[in-house]
Amino acid sequence: MKDLADVRAKLEARLLNLGARVDEIETEQRAPLGDDFSDQAVAREDDEALDGVERAALEDIAQTRNAIARIDAGTYGQCVSCGENIAPARLAALPTASLCIGCAQAAGN
Ligand SMILES: [Zn+2]
Repeated sequence: MKDLADVRAKLEARLLNLGARVDEIETEQRAPLGDDFSDQAVAREDDEALDGVERAALEDIAQTRNAIARIDAGTYGQCVSCGENIAPARLAALPTASLCIGCAQAAGN
């Protein structure tokens, strides 16, 4: 694949963005709750929503790091399950894809 350096640069940029987002979430979660009870309830609901966002971001970070590691190992674009090449259109849509479409569907993703 000729654009691997490009893909790697994009993945690195994505990692930075995700890291910044997680930092923001953690800063918000550390913000003290207000005195007002209704404020507190809203703040708690927000925290729960943020937890979901943070989990998704952390999962994304892990997948992005794995994709960069696969680029460095020379295995990027190969399905980690069956070893077949992942379709370029799939990689373009999902640069962190580690499974070909067949294996992803078999895994229920
Ligand atoms: Zn596969």
